[in-house]
Amino acid sequence: MATLDSRLVDVVGGRTAKALSTGLGLETVGDLLRHYPRRMSERGELTDLASLRVDDDVTVMAEVRSSRVIRNRNRSGSRLEVVVGDGKGTLKLTFFGNRQTWRERELPPGTLGLFAGKVSVFNNTRQLTHPEYVILHGEGLEQADAFAGALIPVYPATKDVRTWQISNSVRHVLDNLDPVPDPMPADLRRKHRLVDLDTALRNVHQPESNDDWHAARYRLKWDEALGVQLALAQRRAAAAANPATPRPAIIDGVLAEFDKRLPFELTAGQREVGAELTDELARPHPMHRLLQGEVGSGKTVVALRAMLQVVDAGGQAALLAPTEVLAAQHARSIETLLGDLAQAGQLGGAENGTRVALLTGSLPTAARKAALLDAASGAAGIVVGTHALIQQHVSFADLGLVVVDEQHRFGVEQRDALRSKAKQPPHLLVMTATPIPRTVAMTVFGDLDTSVLRELPVGRSPISTTVVPVGERPAWLERAWQRIREEVDAGRQVYVVCPRIGTGPETDEPDAEYDEPTRRPPVAVTDTIEMLQDGPLRGLRLAMLHGGLAPDEKDRVMAGFVARDVDVLVATTVVEVGVDVPNATMMVVLDADRFGVSQLHQLRGRVGRGRHAGLCLLVSEALPGTPSRERLDAVAATTDGFELARLDVEQRREGDVLGAAQSGRRSTLRMLSLLRDEDLIAQARDDAGAIVADDPDLAVHPLLAEQVAALIGEDQAEYLEKA
Ligand code: ADP
Ligand code: MG
Repeated sequence: MATLDSRLVDVVGGRTAKALSTGLGLETVGDLLRHYPRRMSERGELTDLASLRVDDDVTVMAEVRSSRVIRNRNRSGSRLEVVVGDGKGTLKLTFFGNRQTWRERELPPGTLGLFAGKVSVFNNTRQLTHPEYVILHGEGLEQADAFAGALIPVYPATKDVRTWQISNSVRHVLDNLDPVPDPMPADLRRKHRLVDLDTALRNVHQPESNDDWHAARYRLKWDEALGVQLALAQRRAAAAANPATPRPAIIDGVLAEFDKRLPFELTAGQREVGAELTDELARPHPMHRLLQGEVGSGKTVVALRAMLQVVDAGGQAALLAPTEVLAAQHARSIETLLGDLAQAGQLGGAENGTRVALLTGSLPTAARKAALLDAASGAAGIVVGTHALIQQHVSFADLGLVVVDEQHRFGVEQRDALRSKAKQPPHLLVMTATPIPRTVAMTVFGDLDTSVLRELPVGRSPISTTVVPVGERPAWLERAWQRIREEVDAGRQVYVVCPRIGTGPETDEPDAEYDEPTRRPPVAVTDTIEMLQDGPLRGLRLAMLHGGLAPDEKDRVMAGFVARDVDVLVATTVVEVGVDVPNATMMVVLDADRFGVSQLHQLRGRVGRGRHAGLCLLVSEALPGTPSRERLDAVAATTDGFELARLDVEQRREGDVLGAAQSGRRSTLRMLSLLRDEDLIAQARDDAGAIVADDPDLAVHPLLAEQVAALIGEDQAEYLEKA
C-alpha cells in the first residue's frame, strides 16, 4: 500500500513515473494527487470547440462527424482528415501518412473521444495535427474502462503526458492508497461542513457526482487558505510579540513645525491614516502597516509626517525607493517640503531641525561616505535610498521606522534585511500605489495591517486615455505625434514611454508577464528618440531616460525635465513610479500591449498631476478582440485602480501574484482563487488567528504544522522563524 510520501516509481512503475516526473515534475504520490483536474467533462457534454484559440494546447471531448482519406495534391501520399464536432463548432483532425486505414476504421462517425493537441490554422480552418486521442465508447477498447464514470477528469497535461495517462496513474494510485490522515481539527471541519481529506483527495479525481467533486474542491481550497493564513497568523503573532521602541508624538517638535508650514490642508483620509500611524508608532510593539493609495493621493506626505514623529522621538527613519531616480526625487521633495527644517547644523537651519541623507549605489565616494556617516552617527534623521540601503555595511544610530515606497518592487526578504538593521525591530510602513484587491492584500501582505487613502487631494485634473490602434489605423500614429507638438506649443511637456532601452537584450524591467518570444522585439528608447528627432518631432527638445544611463546622467536629465529644458522625455518604465512633474500633461506609451494593466495605470499617473488635464495615448498593434487589446481597452475605460488591479490578477496566473511572498517553487495555491474565494479566505483568516492564539507553535496540531511547512516551503519556514 502507498502513502502520500511514497515515490511514484514504486507505485506506478518506472516508465510512467519518469514521464510524470519529466513532464510535470511529479515525484511522489502526494504530488500526483495534488495535480488536480482542471475540470470535469461530463460524458455527453462536449467541449466548446468554438472557444478554442490558436496555439492553445487543448484536450477536447467531441464526436466524430466524418472521416476520409485524401490524396495529397502535389505530393505523393495521402492523409486522413477527421472532422469532429460538439454542436457549436467543428474542428479538423489531420493525420498524415499512407497507412491510415486502421485509424479511419477506429474513428467512424459517431465516435466520442478525447482529442489532445495544439490548435493550428490551415486554410482558415482550425485543426489539430496528429492529435493524441482516447475513444470514450467503443467496445473492447482497453482505455474505455478507465473512463467508465460519468465524469471525466481533464488534467493540466503536456504533450508528453496526456490527460488520460494522468487519469490512469491516479486511478492506480488511489486503488493502492492507505487512508490519508486528516490534519484539520474536527471542530473546524464540522463548522464549515468540510469532507475529510481522504474523501476529498479521492473525489477531486474520481467523483461520483458533481456535488462530490465540488465538496472535494471546497475542502482542498480550505486546506490552502488555512495553511497560508496559519503561516501569516504565526508571523503576525511573532512580530507583534517583538518589543519595539515606542516613538510617541511630541507637541513642539519638527512634526508640529512642519504641520504649521504645510502649504495645503491634509485630506480627511490623510488625517485619519496619520492618526493611526501616530498611535501605532507610540506602542511598544512594531507597527506593520500597508498604506494603499492611488498615484497622487498624497502618501508621501503621510509617510513623511510619520518619519518626523520618529525623529522627534530621537530615532531615525529610512525611506526605501525602487529606483535611483525615485530615491533622488524623494530626497529632493522631502528636503523641499522640510525647507530649513532639513538643515540642522547648517547656517540658517531651523533649531529643532534634522537632516536628510541620500544613499544610493552609485554616489561618488565622498558623498557616499558623508551619507554613511550621517546615517551611522544619527545626524541624518531621514535616510533615503534604494536597495543599497540594505547592504551590509550601512548602519544606523537608531533606526526607528522603515518606510518602503512602491512595495511591488521589493521582496519580503529585502524588507526583512532592512528591518534587521535596527537593534530592535523598527516600525514598518509599506506604501503602494498599486491598488491591491482585499484578498490579495490579506494573503500576500497578510502580515500587514492595511490603510487606504481613497480620495485625491483637491485640484487634481482627470486623465483621459485613448487607445491608438495602429494595427487597423496606422495614420493615427501621425496624429499622436502631432498632438505632442500641440501640447509642447501650449507650453507643456510630454513623456514617450517604450518597453525597451535599446537593441541589446537589456531592459529596465524584464516584463515577461505578457511577453512572447516570437513577436518582433519591442520598441526601444534609443531607436525611438532618433526616429522622433529626425522626423515627426524635429525641432523639439528631446531627451532620454532609462536604467542604462549613468546615475549622474539620469539626475541631469531628470533635472532638465523638471526645469523645462526638455520638451519630450523618451523613457522606459523608470518614470513609472513617483516621478512628479506637474507640467507634464501628456504621455504616449508605445507597444502599450507589452505592459501589464496595473503598470499602465501607474504610468499614466505621471500626467495630470498639475492644473491641466492629462492625456494618455496607448499605442498598440494589437487587433480588436485579442486579449491584449481588451486589456488596453479596459485601461482606457476606467481610472479605477482597484478594478484594474482585479483585472490584472485575473489575467496573470495567480501564482505570479503571490510570487513576492513566496519562493520560486511551484505555486502553493492551486485551487484557491484570490478573487473568487474571498469569503472563504476571510473565514480562514479568522480561524487561523484563533488557532494560533491558543497554540502559537501548532504543537497541539502537529499535522497542521506539517501541512503549513509543506505549503509554505522550507525557505519560507526559515523566514518565518527569523521574523
Ligand atoms: P503619492 O506618493 O501618493 O503618489 P504624493 O505624496 O507624491 O502622492 O503627492 C502628490 C502631490 O500632491 C505632491 O506634490 C504633494 O505635495 C501634493 N499633496 C499631497 N497631499 C496634498 C493635499 N492634501 N492637498 C494638496 N496637495 C497635496
Ligand atoms: Mg509617491
